Amino acid sequence: MRLGDITIRLIHAGLTQADAGGPFGLVPRALFRRYFEPDADNLVPMSLNCLYIQTPTQKILVDTGLGKRLDDKSRANWGITYPYGTLEDGLARIGVLPEAITLVINTHLHADHCGGNTMFDDDGTTIIPAFPNAEYVVQAREMLDATHPNERTRSTYIPQNWDVLRQTGQLRLLYGDTQLAEGIWGVIAPGHTRGHMAITIERDGQHVAFVCDMASFAVHFEKLSWMTSYDTEPMLTLETKRAWQAWALAHDAVLIFPHDTKRPMGKLAYNAKHQLEIMPIDETWA
Ligand SMILES: [Zn+2]
Repeated sequence: MRLGDITIRLIHAGLTQADAGGPFGLVPRALFRRYFEPDADNLVPMSLNCLYIQTPTQKILVDTGLGKRLDDKSRANWGITYPYGTLEDGLARIGVLPEAITLVINTHLHADHCGGNTMFDDDGTTIIPAFPNAEYVVQAREMLDATHPNERTRSTYIPQNWDVLRQTGQLRLLYGDTQLAEGIWGVIAPGHTRGHMAITIERDGQHVAFVCDMASFAVHFEKLSWMTSYDTEPMLTLETKRAWQAWALAHDAVLIFPHDTKRPMGKLAYNAKHQLEIMPIDETWA
């Protein structure tokens, strides 16, 4: 997708299988199965959708998936497969080497969004930055919560995903809404976590938003009351979505959803029944 002098590509960093209780929480199965039919083990597919943004001066990656350091047990728990290859494969297909990335934006520090920040060196044990020349950014609020986890959040906040970046000086903490490049903003969109960020891109009056986990799937954006069980502040998620629905309608924005396998990208509009619906936009994976 092109936006003036900006190119945006969706990159598929893997396909996981999650218990439907994760993405759909309190939503009855009879309702969510119209969108995602769970299998015999109650699993639904969740893809790891990352974003590549190329500006005249920057090569930007938004989120990095689960990464390449997973052991066999984690691999099995996530049920991960790579129908489109890895994040690096996707970047390679559009001619982008990891060394060329100038900025990595972590919307938040859950393992399925920043696991690819780092990787093992050739020795198989030393952890190094996966994007050696990039600056990495994340909200300070998120880093604070990630480094002070509790019994519920501990399993997804894995220090190996960011520790080395502090040592190399590549990590920059953000304090609130921040312009990250011309027309590209990281905006706090709280609820999923307190420091969770959405990313907006604006050029020539066109607007795009990577809404990240305020709406893991397109249907979460349509229905204010549908939210994931992973959210730490669900009532905040609801109000965040209310505000972003209004923003999306006002700007006729293209929205990108981080885990949707069927409608990763679309626009919000009223359907014939006067209900808000995400109208999908066809976009091939990089
Ligand atoms: Zn998350």
